[in-house]
Amino acid sequence: MRIVSGIQPTGNLHLGNYLGAIRNWVRMQDAMEEGSQCLFFLADLHAISMPHVPADLNAATLEMAAALVACGIDPERSILFNQAQVPAHSELQWLLNGTARMGWLNRMTQFKDKSGKNREGASAALFTYPVLQAADVLLYQATHVPVGEDQKQHLELARDIAQKFNNDFGGQDGLAGEEIFTLPDPIIPPEAARIMSLRDGTAKMSKSDPSEMSRINLSDDADTIMQKVRKAKTDPEPLPSEPAGLEGRPEAANLVSIYATMAGVSAEDVLRDFGGEGFGKFKPALGNVLVETLGPISSRFTELKADREELDAILARGALEAREIARPTLDAAYKALGLVRGSGM
Ligand code: ADP
Repeated sequence: MRIVSGIQPTGNLHLGNYLGAIRNWVRMQDAMEEGSQCLFFLADLHAISMPHVPADLNAATLEMAAALVACGIDPERSILFNQAQVPAHSELQWLLNGTARMGWLNRMTQFKDKSGKNREGASAALFTYPVLQAADVLLYQATHVPVGEDQKQHLELARDIAQKFNNDFGGQDGLAGEEIFTLPDPIIPPEAARIMSLRDGTAKMSKSDPSEMSRINLSDDADTIMQKVRKAKTDPEPLPSEPAGLEGRPEAANLVSIYATMAGVSAEDVLRDFGGEGFGKFKPALGNVLVETLGPISSRFTELKADREELDAILARGALEAREIARPTLDAAYKALGLVRGSGM
């Protein structure tokens, strides 16, 4: 089993990013059995498909790498790297562009969503982005790719590209009938929590919320966390003793859900302990759980963010391992297409 998964580098990481995305990677890594492997990459090449500020992308890539390691991605066990250090991603994308059909790409709903009314002004990269995603996983002969609902269509496309490439160019002389690419299967990622703003239980916790009090950042210290929880919006009612009683109380439901997720218990368990209590009692308990669980993450994160040498070393090592795994597949793809390359490439 080989799992390949990418994440776009974003800055100002918060509890929502941790519980909704990063923690799932850590779980996948920890569930890996002997002989299986996870490759996790920062999709920095994807980021240039949208308008972006180069210095911010640079900083976000390093910050995301620091966060992943701080949250539990172990570079000794998983291969962690950024795309830009593995040129095979871009190379294979070009090779696959010959196989991907315009009609297939035209059907991708994400391009329609992201380009909106400005289709003519969208970058060509935004249009061919799903081919880069295909390259990202086919390059490593991924057997499994975790995909949420919004990415299902892109994985189907990757499979179509792989199948057509294998049909059109596989099994020639010298390739002894072998398939060049493995068709990856989707795996449903472990259920991701959806964390809401501390100021509005109906809005997602997000880095783009102008209020710092709306989110808990991965870099917040204990005092800041306690203060943000203390000031979190609530209602005047005490907590119910069963989850059904949280209906119509989005702020209360969010805080209970955060407690449950961080403490690794169910909402039922939380309400069994706190049902009938007011927020004056619940909030300090929630603050403590957050400080206990996020404390070690936040200190490692802050330390790593400031250690450029260590971050560079982690990413360089991951890229080296990724390049090695990618090489035979990339070579086979060049060869299958009849492209002449000298030795030493
Ligand atoms: P933001 O909303 O802060 O801009 P991004 O869109 O950059 O965050 O999201 C990066 C990753 O973190 C995505 O996988 C996204 O699903 C996850 N994520 C972001 N915010 C939340 C949230 N409030 N709850 C759960 N997951 C989230």
